[in-house]
Amino acid sequence: MNSRDSEFVTGLLIDNGYTLAPSIDKADVVIFNSCAVRKHAEDKLFSHIADLKPLKAKKKGLIIVLMGCVAQNYKDEAVKRLPIIDIVCGPGDEAKLPRIIADVARHREHIIAIEDVDKKRPEITPEYRSGELKALVSIGEGCNNFCTYCIVPYARGRERYRDPKDIVREVRGLARRGFKEILLLGQNVNSYGRGTGSDGQLAVNFAGLLEEINEIDGIKRIRFMTSHPKDASEELFKAMCDLDKVCEHLHLPLQSGSDRILKAMNRGYDRNKYMKDIELYKRYLPLGAITTDVIVGFPGETEKDFKETLRVMKDVGFDNAFTFKYSPRPPAASSELEDDVTMEVKDRRLQELMKLQARISIMKNERFKGKIVDVLVESIGTKADDTVIGRTRTNKMVVFGGGAKLIGSLVNVEIEDAKSNILAGRMVG
Ligand code: SAH
Ligand code: SF4
Repeated sequence: MNSRDSEFVTGLLIDNGYTLAPSIDKADVVIFNSCAVRKHAEDKLFSHIADLKPLKAKKKGLIIVLMGCVAQNYKDEAVKRLPIIDIVCGPGDEAKLPRIIADVARHREHIIAIEDVDKKRPEITPEYRSGELKALVSIGEGCNNFCTYCIVPYARGRERYRDPKDIVREVRGLARRGFKEILLLGQNVNSYGRGTGSDGQLAVNFAGLLEEINEIDGIKRIRFMTSHPKDASEELFKAMCDLDKVCEHLHLPLQSGSDRILKAMNRGYDRNKYMKDIELYKRYLPLGAITTDVIVGFPGETEKDFKETLRVMKDVGFDNAFTFKYSPRPPAASSELEDDVTMEVKDRRLQELMKLQARISIMKNERFKGKIVDVLVESIGTKADDTVIGRTRTNKMVVFGGGAKLIGSLVNVEIEDAKSNILAGRMVG
């Protein structure tokens, strides 16, 4: 979502006469987009901004902007911490950045633009996109779930969704420009259409939206993330099975395999419901990929809770898992609890999870050996001159020979080798 926001703001500035600078030291404006989900990223962010102190001292007119969720959380505190920051702009105000930057350039005063985070973004879609094949399309913003560890509902506000007509119009425009793949983005795509505030209920739900986008000529692949297990439904799995462009990949964050911890996280499902969803998904899409997010070291997580997570990981057999060490994120509710799992234990649990997952990923990928898969060629490879890299519908990376002329096309590749994070093969047509 942050990548899309960065692209959106870049596009807005280009539409207002700016151009992309070849490097930071040549730039008149430097914008940091920020994620507040984990503490580690936040610390790195402030150290990256601080690295600009010498440049700012040399180049007085340089404008430094902090946007995104850290901006929303820190507000004017960010400037107190690092006075070289000129503008602090929350997600609700990003559409105003061209005007704010122009104001600062004129008056040289700090501006803190943090309005109501629940506001719906204006329907502006600048032309600029960072790629040519795959496009990110936001279907809405915010989250109503209040998982106790998570800062998103505070930094991004309540759920609000874009009108299906606007989304379809945007995707049609992308198709006309030659984009082949669309990734629909939302914190909880399955609740799409659940209208909020004065917007009321939208006429279509997420499965209905997929159906509409599936009709758009030129688009070959549709992906989406993230699905919340609480709202995952048979209707979605059926749509994934029936709609030819919707790729067979479900990202379904588990977070923990322990019912006790899931409850403390306020996730709204238990292990049983999660496993039932997986079973149903596998029934509709037997060869479909499943990926997940897992947190280790949530307050009170015992060795027994952790073993339960390992158990679910083995039972499901995820294709890939994004694993995180818990960090308290005030004002999220769990930040009130004692962060009582030591860093040493978090590290060990994370290593164990990652080791298990690497084994499972290889096993899952080996199933592809000897099979012919449909690959969208995305870029040139790094090893031999004519290697290219693409992705399967299940979102697995594949490397094979063929040359740069293939970029943008869909080809069949026979898989000959499988590692935990990449497949290799040869083109068969
Ligand atoms: N809306 C998505 C993801 C949001 S954040 C969802 O509900 O799944 C992405 C991932 O970051 C989460 O799935 C979670 O695994 C992780 N995460 C969120 N808050 C965290 C925290 N305080 N500490 C560690 N990991 C966290
Ligand atoms: Fe955060 Fe939970 Fe919302 Fe995902 S569903 S953004 S983890 S509160």
